[in-house]
Amino acid sequence: MIQDDYIKFTISKQKHIALIAHDSKKHELVEWVEHNKEILKSHFLCGTGTTARIIVDKTGLPVRAYNSGPLGGDQQIGSRIVEGSIDFVIFFWDPLAAQPHDPDVKALLRICAVYDIPVANNRATADFLITSTYMDQEYERSVLNYNKVIHSRLKEFE
Ligand code: PGA
Repeated sequence: MIQDDYIKFTISKQKHIALIAHDSKKHELVEWVEHNKEILKSHFLCGTGTTARIIVDKTGLPVRAYNSGPLGGDQQIGSRIVEGSIDFVIFFWDPLAAQPHDPDVKALLRICAVYDIPVANNRATADFLITSTYMDQEYERSVLNYNKVIHSRLKEFE
């Protein structure tokens, strides 16, 4: 549905959840996933390469694996958000360690903001999200209607 300034996209009841954790946070994410297994099993899960494989091994939940983060996995997840096939992100990034793919991490967080994607960067936020009543409802996220911007920019070149 196109409104004037924003376009609405529906996050369905069954969410497409990306799971990502930097190395020092992988245990914490696995523990969180195990703790919330009953809820997570009714959604579609994916993740960056290593994180996804560890979660599959430790919890038995099906998780689609993209490339490992340093090899472009965060960018793949970002592109799926742009295409509309991922609409929920749990990303336990490490605030105390430099990452070789730091620009990709920043790019993913930016894309989450642009596309109004619920994103948890730590366990407390993840706990609040997973217990939200929206977890078993549809939710309308709002994305800036960039067509208006494009039209006004095109006018500059007429
Ligand atoms: P990994 O990537 O799951 O392959 O470790 C995560 C990341 O570093 O973004």
